[in-house]
Amino acid sequence: MVNGFMPLSLKEALDIRSAHEVIPYGGGTDLMIQGNTDDCYLFLNRIPEMKKIYEDETYLRIGGSSTFTEVLASPLVPKLMKEAVSRIAAPAIRNAGTMAGNIGNGSAKADSVLIAYVADAKLRLLSAKGERIVPIAEFYKGRKQLDLGSDELIVEILLPRHGLENYYYKKVGGRKALAISRISFAGVIQIEQGVIRHLAVAFGAVADTVLRFPELEKIFEGKTLAEAHEERRSFVETYAQQLHLTKGRVSAEYRKEVCMNLLQDFLDVKGI
Ligand SMILES: Cc1cc2nc3c(=O)[nH]c(=O)nc-3n(C[C@H](O)[C@H](O)[C@H](O)COP(=O)(O)OP(=O)(O)OC[C@H]3O[C@@H](n4cnc5c(N)ncnc54)[C@H](O)[C@@H]3O)c2cc1C
Repeated sequence: MVNGFMPLSLKEALDIRSAHEVIPYGGGTDLMIQGNTDDCYLFLNRIPEMKKIYEDETYLRIGGSSTFTEVLASPLVPKLMKEAVSRIAAPAIRNAGTMAGNIGNGSAKADSVLIAYVADAKLRLLSAKGERIVPIAEFYKGRKQLDLGSDELIVEILLPRHGLENYYYKKVGGRKALAISRISFAGVIQIEQGVIRHLAVAFGAVADTVLRFPELEKIFEGKTLAEAHEERRSFVETYAQQLHLTKGRVSAEYRKEVCMNLLQDFLDVKGI
């Protein structure tokens, strides 16, 4: 017998969250495995406000209770996010697992989180007291450490509406099917009239949180592809110095080599 509340509106959910000690429950694909029968759950899959995927002037807003299958079916979700989500587990997990659950699970292996990082996504957190908008990189304080109050819920994931079109994504798993990432990599680049306006690179599953180095990314900004190519060697060397891998079953040296190969391949493919 599972204990819990099943609210039918966001307000009801937030009131319960602030009044009771409950564990938010999306699709349960992580929580079910933990299977602690004493816990009291707040089931979030019947809340219409948390299942919407829509655009406003600034963001694409993905409701936290949207399942991976729903994300894949939405014409609004960028191809990069869909590619990562389509690689999560198998259909049964994708039918139940949710976007907020992927984030709330707190793992640097979570496939949608890698994309949220490289996209500079923000999270809309709500409690009965009000709203907070938190950049994804600030939300993760460390392994399983989240900037989430005991009365808050992840209600929406806010993605920029543009800028993710020119991307590179690779997930290197242990097995072909049902592979949780051993190393994942995403890069995006925006080029206008031959000049690099923006570049972002994120590494997943290699440390306590997804890794990104915004200062290094800026090195190429404002440069032509040819100018960036001139600086490529020092760019790559600086990454090699900064990348400290702490997690994984396979040796850190091997995984670092894979990370550097993925970075180099991204640069090759994008003409740098
Ligand atoms: C066989 C198998 C294969 C898997 N493969 C992958 C894979 O390839 N890639 C991958 O990324 N993951 C994988 N996973 C992990 C899991 O499916 C995902 O992390 C999924 O997104 C979890 O979502 P959920 O809705 O089921 O989360 P739940 O299990 O419901 O919750 C997970 C955590 O998030 C919290 N939470 C849920 N919703 C909210 C909310 N709205 N606000 C605040 N906190 C919330 C919960 O309290 C809990 O701590 C796999 C799992 C299994 C069992």
